[in-house]
Amino acid sequence: MRYADSLEKSAEYLRQAVQFMTRQAAALHPVSYTIWYEYASGQNAALKKDIDVLMADGSVLDDETTHDLFRKHIAEIDEATAERVTEGFQKVMTNIASSAFQAQNEAEKFGNVLEHWTGDAAAARVSGLDHLLGHTRVMQGSIGALKSQLEESRREIEQLRNEVKKAREESLLDGLTGLFNRKGFDLALATCLEHCNDGIECPSLLITDIDFFKRVNDTYGHLLGDKVIHAIAKILNDNIKGKDIAARFGGEEFVILLPETPLDGAKQLAEKIRATIQKLSIKRADNNKAITNITASFGLASYRKGEHISEFIARADSALYQSKNQGRNRVTVAEG
Ligand code: GH3
Ligand code: MG
Ligand code: MG
Repeated sequence: MRYADSLEKSAEYLRQAVQFMTRQAAALHPVSYTIWYEYASGQNAALKKDIDVLMADGSVLDDETTHDLFRKHIAEIDEATAERVTEGFQKVMTNIASSAFQAQNEAEKFGNVLEHWTGDAAAARVSGLDHLLGHTRVMQGSIGALKSQLEESRREIEQLRNEVKKAREESLLDGLTGLFNRKGFDLALATCLEHCNDGIECPSLLITDIDFFKRVNDTYGHLLGDKVIHAIAKILNDNIKGKDIAARFGGEEFVILLPETPLDGAKQLAEKIRATIQKLSIKRADNNKAITNITASFGLASYRKGEHISEFIARADSALYQSKNQGRNRVTVAEG
């Protein structure tokens, strides 16, 4: 874990970090906060050294320098940590914004009392009261400015959070087919099995691998191979519904997770997909002729409560290899 500081320690670093960052020219964003948190905690010696050199002549850090420091010293920060930092920062900003809001209200009340008082003939004789009122109004104005600055920063952070979320979602998808990739599938399967072990219906898993695909590539080229992969992915996607998940497991291998489909229903689906693939016709770009006779083999397994994820996948996989060994273009069900 990158940040192992106790609550008390981190609260102290946080306080110092906010002080440091508000003295800079850079905006109050999570990148800036992370730099100054690490500076305050002293956990990043190289970063501290760079900052000390940059600020030795009394200059402050602008946005560009702050981002450069982040990239140089912290960019390898893992995704989960980035999320925690952003979330933590969001909380800090919300708290500061609400304190600023309160402070502005109090200052306004105080100003109104003073104003009321200066209107009073007797009180008007008290020297310096107008002066005090003037200062209060200035204070009110700067708290107001701080408040809108904080609001702006909060909006920026919200946008950053959405970008992180979008990037995370995209990192679970396969670029060629738009299906889930291996990482997305692993996550979906783990979540699904958690529920299954809680006692809800157990899932079926279908693994499929295109037959003699190397030949397709060798004969017609890699681009046409990609076209075939894309078309098969579409067939899989068109044949699932509800909570089902289709994913590209690797090169020309796919999986379908059927969380609520028992084995016999899953077998019917596999047969339907197998037959649809067999009818596939893909146009070649060079001479407009179509290539046909594309087939795929299938392995199917139903989850046994309590079995390890890898065992579940291995059972579906060995059923697939039985299909290959028995002549391909067929569906084999793993023994339950
Ligand atoms: P089998 O029936 O035993 O599965 O034979 P196969 O030729 O399909 O199996 P093999 O594993 O020998 O070959 C798979 C090929 O898939 C090799 C690899 O070049 C190709 N491949 C993997 N990923 C891609 C891809 O993204 N695009 C294309 N065009 N080809 C790919
Ligand atoms: Mg293959
Ligand atoms: Mg393969």
